[in-house]
Amino acid sequence: MALDAIRILVMDEEEYIKAQKELQEAVDDLRKLRNQRSRSKGITPEAPFCSFCGKGHNEVKKLLAGKEAYICNECVELAKEVFDEEPNG
Ligand SMILES: [Zn+2]
Repeated sequence: MALDAIRILVMDEEEYIKAQKELQEAVDDLRKLRNQRSRSKGITPEAPFCSFCGKGHNEVKKLLAGKEAYICNECVELAKEVFDEEPNG
């Protein structure tokens, strides 16, 4: 039993590289699949969308990138209205 454990620990390098390669391929496949799915919905990971209204970059005139979010020109307009509102209105 102990010998089996040792054998697993000292799995030969060729086998290790093979396993690593298989894992890498699986990750690549998953990424491809995710990209395909996103693309069918019109959203790719490279194509950002407004974090406020959810519209894609191609649905609005401008999309402003923040640190971890995006805001479109329409939401900026709305925000401006809210901020410009008189407090005693
Ligand atoms: Zn928006």
